[in-house]
Amino acid sequence: MIRINEHYLKLKASYLFSDIAKRISTYEKANPESSIIKLGIGDVTEPLPEACREAFHKAVDEMGTREGFHGYGPEQGYVFLREAIAGNDFQVRGADISADEIFVSDGAKCDSGNFQEIFGDDIKIAVPDPVYPVYVDTNVMAGRTGENVNDRYDGFVYLESTPENGYVPLIPKKKVDLIYLCFPNNPTGATATREQLTAWVDYAKECGALILFDAAYVGFVRDESLPQSIYEIEGAKDVAVEFRSFSKNGGFTGTRCAYTVVPKGLKAVDASGNEHSVHALWNRRHCTKFNGVSYPVQKAAEALFSDAGKAEVKALTDFYLDNAKIVRSAIEALGFPCVGGDNSPYVWINVERPSWDFFDTLLNEAGVVCTPGAGFGTCGEGHIRISAFNSRENVVKAMERIKAALSKSGSLADA
Ligand SMILES: *Cc1c(COP(=O)(O)O)cnc(C)c1O
Repeated sequence: MIRINEHYLKLKASYLFSDIAKRISTYEKANPESSIIKLGIGDVTEPLPEACREAFHKAVDEMGTREGFHGYGPEQGYVFLREAIAGNDFQVRGADISADEIFVSDGAKCDSGNFQEIFGDDIKIAVPDPVYPVYVDTNVMAGRTGENVNDRYDGFVYLESTPENGYVPLIPKKKVDLIYLCFPNNPTGATATREQLTAWVDYAKECGALILFDAAYVGFVRDESLPQSIYEIEGAKDVAVEFRSFSKNGGFTGTRCAYTVVPKGLKAVDASGNEHSVHALWNRRHCTKFNGVSYPVQKAAEALFSDAGKAEVKALTDFYLDNAKIVRSAIEALGFPCVGGDNSPYVWINVERPSWDFFDTLLNEAGVVCTPGAGFGTCGEGHIRISAFNSRENVVKAMERIKAALSKSGSLADA
C-alpha cells in the first residue's frame, strides 16, 4: 500500500475548536432555553462593502462579454491591483515597495503556510508562543521538527509572549534562519513599536535570517506612532517578507484575496554558499502551484482602495474596534489585566488560572464562548481571547452577562 508522509503523524491533533464545540453542545443540552453568544471566532461578521460589491458585479458582467472576458490571468495578480496595493499600502507611508514585488493570492493563511517550502529542511526556525498554528504545523509537515513533547516540538525556537515582556517576544540568544512574527498579533492583539521591530530587523541582519511578517490585522492600527508595515523599518527590505490580507479589513474571509510582498533584493544561499533571489524562487513556486485569483475578486479588492472603499473599510474596522473597546473596558473593570483591543480586534485577558476553567465559567455561568489561550501554545495558558467580531448587541449583552455572572458567583474571589 502507498506510504504516508510520516511527519503528519507528529502533528498534535488540534482539539481546540472541537473541544469548544463539545462543551457548547453539552451546555445547550442542559440549558435548552439558553442563547449562547460566541465571542470565540476569528471570522468577520459584517457584510461586504458596497464599493466591492459594485466592482464585483461589474466585473462578472464584463466576463459575460467577448471583449471583457478574462481567462487565465497573471499568476502574480493583475497590474491594476498590484499597483493599487503598492501605492496605497506602502508608498504613501514611505515604504519603497513596487508593484512587481507583490504577489496577489487567495489567502495569507496559504502564503504564510507555503512560504517555508522554498527553504532548506535543516534550517533553524523561531515561532511565536502563543501562535497562529499555521506557522508551526506547516513546518512540522515539512519534516523540520522532532516529536511533540508537552505541547512543544523539538527543533523550534519558541518566542515567548508573556505578561513580563508585554506580549512582545524578546530577541533570541541563539542564531536562527527563519523568524515568524505577527503584529497586531493573533491571538494576543499586542502590537510592536518601531523600536521593537527595528531590533528584530537588526537581529535578522546580524544573523542572516529572514523574517516572515504577518500583518493580516494592520487595518486595525490606529496609533500613528506604530509602524504599519515592516518596510517602514530601515533595512527591512533586505530581511523581510510581509503577508497581508483583505480578509479582516475588507470582510473578504469568504471572498478570498490577499497578497505577499517579496522584495527583489532578498537573498538566500545554497549549500555551496551561492546566493539566490528569494523573489525568483517564490515566483517559480507561485507560478507552478497557483493559478491566480479570479478577475472579479481582484476587481472587488481593487475597489477597497477607491475613496468610497477606503471610507467603508475605515467604518468596518472602526465598528469592530468599538466592540473591542467595550470588551476591554468591561473586562478591565472586573479586575483582569488585558492587552489588545485598541489596535486589534482581539482582547487577550490574563485570567490567572487555567484557561479551560475560565472558559467553562464563562460558558456555564454567562452563556458566553471565548477561546482558551492554552489552545494557542504553552504561553497561552492562564489567558483567554475574546474576539470583537460580532454584532454590537451581542457584544454589549455578553459583557453584561459576564459582569453579572462573575460578581454573583464569587468566581473572582476564588481566583
Ligand atoms: C485571519 C488571519 C490571516 C488571514 O488569512 P486569510 O487566509 O487571508 O483569510 C492571516 N494571519 C493571521 C494570523 C490571521 O489571523
